[in-house]
Amino acid sequence: MPELPEVEFCRRAVLCWTAGRRIAGVQVLDPRVVRDSRTDRPSAGSPAALERLDRIARSAPLGLDRHGKRLLWRFEAGSILLHLGMTGRWTRGPSPFPKVRLLLDDGAAITFHDPRLLGGIVPFSSHAEGQQALSLGLGPDALRDPLPALPGRRPIKVVLMDQSVVAGLGNVQAMEALWRAGLHPLQPAGGLGPVEHRRLADAVQEQLAATFTLLGDGHEVAYVEEPGASNPFPLYQREGEPCPRCSTPIATFRQAGRGTWWCPGCQGTR
Ligand SMILES: [Zn+2]
Repeated sequence: MPELPEVEFCRRAVLCWTAGRRIAGVQVLDPRVVRDSRTDRPSAGSPAALERLDRIARSAPLGLDRHGKRLLWRFEAGSILLHLGMTGRWTRGPSPFPKVRLLLDDGAAITFHDPRLLGGIVPFSSHAEGQQALSLGLGPDALRDPLPALPGRRPIKVVLMDQSVVAGLGNVQAMEALWRAGLHPLQPAGGLGPVEHRRLADAVQEQLAATFTLLGDGHEVAYVEEPGASNPFPLYQREGEPCPRCSTPIATFRQAGRGTWWCPGCQGTR
């Protein structure tokens, strides 16, 4: 599943692929990914949304913004929200599940593919509506904004993954950041003192920066939780292996339906 680093990687790749170009045509191969609003389920794709997508995409591009795991592509005629969901991705090469193909004016094309249809493309004629959809319901961006105060008695890892508190972190980034900060994933989020909060804020930035380094500067990315993807992370799915920092065997448990890995040596026990 893409988290903030993979979405940012996608943003940079799409910008690179389309630099100096205009979109000359839009091929909608599966109208279910084109939605009238962000919260729509996959549907038949309304004719109005399809017309809007075509009109907006062919106008002059202005920029591609990201907030958390959402992207907003701004054009002169409106904005297009790009949401990758669980399995969505943009690619320049061949694609097994092509949904929408954008034809560029130099003959190249980029394709949105999404086998599970949990991502989507939402065109907005109004820039204000697009901007609102980009961040509606989301907390501050985990990369760009200061880490907010974390509320309540819920476990800290669950709160870090709550997009309404901080936007962009998912299961892998949250657990690895907590390891870097030496905080137990079950620790109540609201119990952090100022020193621990600072440590966690630094750890989140270090973790995101480390993942950007791992992703490299290529243009194709595999999502770590996909079958067959390589796992470059120190904790994720490494139960029983020695912690790279203190050599204690890494442990695991289920938390809010997701696997959590942690180091009893660095992060304590509860
Ligand atoms: Zn350790």
